[in-house]
Amino acid sequence: MIDGATDTSQLQRACGAQLNVTAIIAELISAGIAVDASTWNGGPSREHQANLARGLDPSAVPRRGAYRVAIAHDEPAAPMAASLRWVLAQAGISVTGGDDCELLIICSLGEPARTLFTAACEYGIDQLPVVIDGPAIRCGPYIRPGRWPCLRCHDFLRADWDTAWPALLHQPKSRQPQIHQHSPAPAAGPAVSAVLMQLVAARAADDVISTAEERVPSTYACLRSYGPQLHQHTRYAIPFHPECTCTRLLAEVS
Ligand SMILES: [Zn+2]
Repeated sequence: MIDGATDTSQLQRACGAQLNVTAIIAELISAGIAVDASTWNGGPSREHQANLARGLDPSAVPRRGAYRVAIAHDEPAAPMAASLRWVLAQAGISVTGGDDCELLIICSLGEPARTLFTAACEYGIDQLPVVIDGPAIRCGPYIRPGRWPCLRCHDFLRADWDTAWPALLHQPKSRQPQIHQHSPAPAAGPAVSAVLMQLVAARAADDVISTAEERVPSTYACLRSYGPQLHQHTRYAIPFHPECTCTRLLAEVS
């Protein structure tokens, strides 16, 4: 059917023998101006088109489906974890229950326990901390064990100028993030706006998508702080710290 009602033989009869309708249609299809509805699969997806519009490789989109992501969060960070989960699902990345994940995202109000990161490093799992810090939210560094600067590099750097930092890392166990597949609504929310949480969830999701498509995320070797105003954004570089053991891991990997 050429228009849902007229088939090509009817069109050929209407045009007469001087025009080869089949050849013209074949040329239109090969030029991408027309599509063959009998073999068309609906065309490029929204995500393919979005990658094209951003100058990114649209053929990388299917890789997202194979990326295994888990989210750990505490109760106050549950809304942000839920936003993150929703954005990732829309982009083609589903969140797993934690078994055999390649990336662990850790969302928390205040600094999460370093034990979570240490365990993930031992299993070679990437990590992305998203920390609600007063009226702002910090995202990063995106940690790839033995390859990219880690959270201990960050802690060493921070302790170089903030002597209180090591003491801040000892949070009560009851507040530590847990892995959830679904995020229950918290009894009380943190003092950051819902809009800022959505914004950072989208930024973090974009980094997850970048990694799933084998691109370098925006939080590689840095952390980014957003808020309290929506336009406020600061990038802090996190290079390898000479005292961190991950630099030895780096030497073993490379
Ligand atoms: Zn390190």
